[in-house]
Amino acid sequence: MNDSNRRANAGPANGIPDMPIESVDDFRIRMQAIRSRVDQACHAAGREPQEVRILPVSKTVDVDRIRLAYDAGCRSFGENKVQEARVKEEALSELNIQWSVIGHLQTNKVKYVARFAHEFQALDSLRIAELLERRLQTAGRKLDVYVQVNSSGESSKYGLPPEDVSGFVKKLAPYSALKVCGLMTIAVFSADQDHVRRCFATMHDLRRSLRNESSSNESIEELSMGMSNDFEAAIAEGATVVRVGRALFGPRPLPDSYYWPAAVS
Ligand SMILES: *Cc1c(COP(=O)(O)O)cnc(C)c1O
Repeated sequence: MNDSNRRANAGPANGIPDMPIESVDDFRIRMQAIRSRVDQACHAAGREPQEVRILPVSKTVDVDRIRLAYDAGCRSFGENKVQEARVKEEALSELNIQWSVIGHLQTNKVKYVARFAHEFQALDSLRIAELLERRLQTAGRKLDVYVQVNSSGESSKYGLPPEDVSGFVKKLAPYSALKVCGLMTIAVFSADQDHVRRCFATMHDLRRSLRNESSSNESIEELSMGMSNDFEAAIAEGATVVRVGRALFGPRPLPDSYYWPAAVS
């Protein structure tokens, strides 16, 4: 990584606006800025910009502000908590929004995901897979899922250890309503960029070995990794989806420890 990249990724507050968006233009301008950083990161990595999708993460963002983002052209939003996503989905049901559930799911919330989610990025247990499958079959729906991987080895994180992913994916085969389209991770929260980068590299290697292992793993194409603080490093290691919250919507009222057990905030 060169010096300017290192600086761009430096502090946790880097590139995060201090104010929430107040207008469609606010959102448009921020989105353009993130898009151009994504494009630059792609060029630097010798990748095509259209390989990377930006998923705006709207957790804690109220529905009026989500509408501003919608009016600026966004059609999909990531939400970490199903309960919150559900309320927003209902309030905005007249809009053509695709909701992406990106956080850990409890068994009693599976039914909501099966009902309205467009994709679920945090699959890490067979129990949840089985319940989702049953609900989806009843609803006559299919769902794109990403297997969440604990790429940092921190005990507090959700997700499967990388070495368990292959076996897990095999066990998902009978669940025909679940389309396993990729892997998702949250990298270590650290100022040590090399450590962050190693988490992403682990994911890249894992996707490659899964795809080499079996032709039934060919659908595993996506790597959802990188957030406001670290998406450039993630793109350098092959991210195809970056999940960006604060750099688009502004700061959140609640610390991240509210969303991730034992996350440092
Ligand atoms: C909140 C969240 C994000 C976005 O984080 P920012 O730092 O706001 O960009 C990405 N992924 C998950 C799983 C999240 O919960």
